Amino acid sequence: MSLYQCEVCGCLENTALAPSMVFTHKWFDWTGIEERKGKKVCSACGPSKYSDGSPTEYGVWHGRFDRKFLPMGMFKTNKEGNLEHIETGSTDICQYEIKDGVSEKQPE
Ligand SMILES: [Zn+2]
Repeated sequence: MSLYQCEVCGCLENTALAPSMVFTHKWFDWTGIEERKGKKVCSACGPSKYSDGSPTEYGVWHGRFDRKFLPMGMFKTNKEGNLEHIETGSTDICQYEIKDGVSEKQPE
C-alpha cells in the first residue's frame, strides 16, 4: 500500500483505494476517457464501468480521506511508499497542496 499522484488530476491517492494498481486496465470500460488508460489514476478519475457494463466503485472520489490536489508531475512515490517532491525530496506534501483554484471537470 503506498501513495502516488494521479496522472490525470494531480491529486494524492492510495494504491489500495484506486483502480490502476488494483485491477488490470482491460477489465474496465474506458469509453470517453481513453486518454486515461494506462495512466495512474485516482478513484475519481477511474472508469465508472467495467467492460461488461456493470458499475465500478470508481468515477467518484472514495471519501476515505480528503482529496488533496498537488502540482502535476512534481511528485513520485519513494521507497517508503510515501509521496515525495521530486526536486526537494520533501515528503511534507501539505505545503504543496493546491487549495481552491482547482476546478474539477464537470461531466457534460
Ligand atoms: Zn485523479
